[in-house]
Amino acid sequence: MVHNLNENLRRSARKFPEKYAYIYEDISVTYRELNQLVDQFAAGLSAQGVGKGDGVALILGNSPEFIIAYYGILRLGAIAIPINPMFSQREISYILDNSQAKVVIAHASVGSKISELKEESKNIICFIYVDAMSQEWTWERLMETSNPDFESPFTHEEDLAVILYTSGTTGKPKGAMLSHRNLASNAKSISNLLELYDEDRVVAVLPMFHVFCMTVCLNNAISCGATVIIVPKFSPQDVVNTIRQKQATVFVGVPTMYNFIYQLPEASADYFLSIRLCISGGASIPVELLQNFQNKFNVTILEGYGLSETSPVVAFNPLRGTRKPGSIGLNIPGVKSKVVNEEGDELPRGEIGELVVQGPNVMKGYLGMPEDTNAALMDEWFFTGDLAKMDEEGYIYIVDRKKDIIIVGGYNVYPREVEEVLYQHPSIVEASVVGVPDEGYGEIVKSYVVVKDEQITIDDIIHFCQDKLAKYKLPKQVEFLKELPKNSTGKILRRKLRQLTPIQ
Ligand code: AMP
Repeated sequence: MVHNLNENLRRSARKFPEKYAYIYEDISVTYRELNQLVDQFAAGLSAQGVGKGDGVALILGNSPEFIIAYYGILRLGAIAIPINPMFSQREISYILDNSQAKVVIAHASVGSKISELKEESKNIICFIYVDAMSQEWTWERLMETSNPDFESPFTHEEDLAVILYTSGTTGKPKGAMLSHRNLASNAKSISNLLELYDEDRVVAVLPMFHVFCMTVCLNNAISCGATVIIVPKFSPQDVVNTIRQKQATVFVGVPTMYNFIYQLPEASADYFLSIRLCISGGASIPVELLQNFQNKFNVTILEGYGLSETSPVVAFNPLRGTRKPGSIGLNIPGVKSKVVNEEGDELPRGEIGELVVQGPNVMKGYLGMPEDTNAALMDEWFFTGDLAKMDEEGYIYIVDRKKDIIIVGGYNVYPREVEEVLYQHPSIVEASVVGVPDEGYGEIVKSYVVVKDEQITIDDIIHFCQDKLAKYKLPKQVEFLKELPKNSTGKILRRKLRQLTPIQ
């Protein structure tokens, strides 16, 4: 089978022309209409001189324009470079420069941050603004530009489709190069696994510029003729209202979203009546939250795991068959993974080591960074930087990020196991654990918590953990915060917590 994201949309437009491709507020657009909008966009962009292999930056929030531009870029054989609109001018400038993007499609609200970049950059030929009144080039103008000579070029499945700049948890951001094959094969595996079909309505509230939403909500849904319900911004109440009003069938979120929805006083199982499936990924979902959420709303949450570099999905708990709470499930079809030691040798089942992955979803490399690519990809195995163990049945458990291990007096503490205990406390709403320097032990465990009961004390929390964790794993310091720092996908940022001023 040839994997081509552009062809996936064309096929859905042929098979389901009158089905809704997306719903945004009161606007519903069919597959036939979306396909035409994508043609129009591609023709307009080609009139600007963009062609096969050119990079086009996409600095947009969740919107119809994101979907049209993303598929329009692919129809041209060009490469989409999604960028978080919340990034600073410096971050955006770095990505534009590193990727050599030729055109920038941005929301007008980003205009003030990027307008000066045009003068600086030699590569960029034009900026196109969405929702703009006065800028030189507007979305509307581009869509009106016809190009009678435009013909969609042949796209090979090994051609690059997307360059995704990873969250950059270490060092500078790196552009993961993903081909049509990488992304489309992953979307295909996921739709088979989740049994996604044209009657599904998938909530897209995760940011579309992140690979999780891009594959699971866009590539996946569009290849099946399902409907994408576009939600521009996460608010727990709006999400449950949208689910009910639009009769969504699939909800895709990160653990913090599940937590916020779970905490909503008003929400009940009634809101989730249309939902047949919830999907969690992006970070580990605490077992306590997974079970509480499933019980409260009478839904099934399937936890999966992936990374930008693996387009993204590596493993998933099965829809039918055994699901193991706390586990990311089994390798998805066609993808192999194993747990290895520092030397790269496979470890016996049950032992903790680094998770490495091989398959059609693994990126081609980091753009212009051969050394980083060589360090991450060895003999076609991708080194995830995540520590994991595998049980006898092949279920994988993510223990933590390799770099987040805390070493207390020579003993390893995995933040996640302490967090799992903290989440069991009835007053703790959110928890995260980091290591802080200590003269005696080298490092000690510090936890940051958000609580709903103001009366709770630090001693209460430490006491609660005492019979559940070995002494060296106990949080020696606890700090209360109003909220935990998160990135745009909702992942808790331990890096930011480490930078907070320590308690004196
Ligand atoms: P990104 O490239 O931004 O998608 O981040 C990928 C990272 O998210 C992985 O390396 C993991 O550390 C983390 N991650 C994703 N899904 C899970 C999961 N289900 N459990 C634990 N960590 C996860």
